[in-house]
Amino acid sequence: VIEIGQPEHSVVTTCAYCGVGCSFKAEMRGEELVRMVPWKDGQANRGHSCVKGRFAYGYSSHKDRILNPMVREKVTDPWREVTWEEAYAHVANEFRRIQYQYGRDSVGGITSSRCTNEETYLVQKLVRAGFGNNNVDTCARVCHSPTGYGLNQTFGTSAGTQDFDSVEHTDVAVIIGANPTDGHPVFASRLKKRLRQGAKLIVIDPRRIDLVRSAHVEASYHLPIKPGTNVAILTSLAHVIVTEGLANEAFIRERCDWSEYEDWAAFVAEPYHSPEATEAYTGVPAELVRGAARLYATGGNGAIYYGLGVTEHSQGSTTVMAIANLAMVTGNIGRPGVGVNPLRGQNNVQGSCDMGSFPHELPGYRHISDDATREIFEKLWGVTLNNEPGLRIPNMLDAAVEGTFKGLYIQGEDILQSDPDTKHVAAGLAAMECVVVQDLFLNETANYAHVFLPGSTFLEKDGTFTNAERRINRVRKVMRPKNGYADWEVTQKLAQAMGLDWNYSHPSEIMDEIAATTPTFALVSYDYLDKMGSVQWPCNEKAPLGSPIMHVDGFVRGKGKFIRTEFVATDEKTGPRFPLLLTTGRILSQYNVGAQTRRTDNVVWHAEDRLEIHPHDAEQRGIRDGDWVRLASRSGETTLRALITDRVAPGVVYTTFHHPTTQANVITTDFSDWATNCPEYKVTAVQVSPSNGP
Ligand code: SF4
Repeated sequence: VIEIGQPEHSVVTTCAYCGVGCSFKAEMRGEELVRMVPWKDGQANRGHSCVKGRFAYGYSSHKDRILNPMVREKVTDPWREVTWEEAYAHVANEFRRIQYQYGRDSVGGITSSRCTNEETYLVQKLVRAGFGNNNVDTCARVCHSPTGYGLNQTFGTSAGTQDFDSVEHTDVAVIIGANPTDGHPVFASRLKKRLRQGAKLIVIDPRRIDLVRSAHVEASYHLPIKPGTNVAILTSLAHVIVTEGLANEAFIRERCDWSEYEDWAAFVAEPYHSPEATEAYTGVPAELVRGAARLYATGGNGAIYYGLGVTEHSQGSTTVMAIANLAMVTGNIGRPGVGVNPLRGQNNVQGSCDMGSFPHELPGYRHISDDATREIFEKLWGVTLNNEPGLRIPNMLDAAVEGTFKGLYIQGEDILQSDPDTKHVAAGLAAMECVVVQDLFLNETANYAHVFLPGSTFLEKDGTFTNAERRINRVRKVMRPKNGYADWEVTQKLAQAMGLDWNYSHPSEIMDEIAATTPTFALVSYDYLDKMGSVQWPCNEKAPLGSPIMHVDGFVRGKGKFIRTEFVATDEKTGPRFPLLLTTGRILSQYNVGAQTRRTDNVVWHAEDRLEIHPHDAEQRGIRDGDWVRLASRSGETTLRALITDRVAPGVVYTTFHHPTTQANVITTDFSDWATNCPEYKVTAVQVSPSNGP
């Protein structure tokens, strides 16, 4: 029995874990958080929550938190605690020295999808207005950057089309490359409710995820594709729809470019796209593909939901466009129950992308080369902006290894653990002269840092997060920052130390600036959010109540664009040395690299990552359940315990990546999406052999 005291007051705020964006009442006694209660009026969760949001907040007061700034000359030196003023002055002097010595473009910044919109906005502003370049990127680079690119090309905006309520009108749900039960649990519950009411489900995934068959829910079709063949299977589904006369021509004529459609339809109708032809490399029996295509095209309102199993591939952007093609060819866009819906991993991935975290885009997804947009910011910020796109994270690391990139400000990210090709990330960081890490804990990246700035938790600040349905939710300060300052204040102090005239007294003023410069946020303010509860962008004069559903009367880009999606097999091949394909995912009780959930006493169910392996593959190798195994790829190797299960098909192995000892990114390759550099985390050729343990 855990004794909890009676709360004295409560504050409504937003969960800082996944992209569902659940609202909670944080019940407090003085400065102590007594419990988190799912808020019944929360528009994304309506009183529901998962175990992480409800119980996993203990990290906020964990003993590992660093509360004082620290500096060291060399990364081999011990850390030395300094005052905040000394830390700001040190960073400002170092970044100015580096730019004087190596040039304006030798420094950059990385924003965090765990921080608020306002904090993200300030980091990109510091890079653009303070550093004078566009070397800013975000952790969305390694997760949903293909969503931004693909949906922008086809529909004209880099965001999902629906709200979560929409699922209540769905007749056929397609889940591809996502495992909502573990990754987005509150949405999964709403989907299951709809399925129990009679809606049909198609799952496209190499693994038999929970939704394929669980209590009172069974998918009509599970297409267990070989990892890396998403584009082939989606184009094959389109082949069936077009060649069997199931296309919604009335919708296409009205809403899309007809000549582009004809070109695309001729392309997908080619015999080599038929399910019978693609079966050889997707591994999915043709009759399953034909059945699933017919169900999606004729079963009523069809909605597609997808996750990182779509984006983290060498053809991630192509896959997103192939999904958009399917929605357009069936007319499943622009009304409740349909659409294309990326399930965002982190709480504020949508927001960090919205806020101009990419090196080619200012807030609101406007290209940096657009003179009129730059002028808006130049007038307000009192600077002349560089019109050349800056460096992406992988380019920053390459440039560091080459000796031209020397200083990096990283807010709330652990790129050594979360980015691909760990050796290359380490080499890039080691080659820099000033790495500044701002975080709650001394993370793995901090091993290469020269300055550590303590971060603040979501409980310690005001701001907003934007969830996967474009819903802007308020984050409200529940307690004083244990380190003394919220992250936005730290960035402002850094900017001031670098000579910038910033004087925000509250994050609401930052949101006012965002609204003044970004048309999709034009009516957003803290007062308006308090009045409405939350709003979904675009929220402006055309849509004063926000926009639960997009592309209702027309696509943002005008006509919807069909794009040919030719399947190109990844360069990552299996062979005699590496005969199995590794893919990765998450588990309900943990979150990403586990920095928060592993430091929370009340989440104890997932003590280690395990390697799921099919009984046939395990037997061939003499591996028993629970044995230690060596997992090796062309990039590196690690050791973990085996979990024998037929959830994975023969030839496929699977693991989660929540514990640093698993070192999943030591194994993964350096292949990435052709359009966005999003790493190909979901396909790695590996060998598995018995081991005596680490
Ligand atoms: Fe909701 Fe996601 Fe937080 Fe769980 S982790 S409470 S589903 S926002």
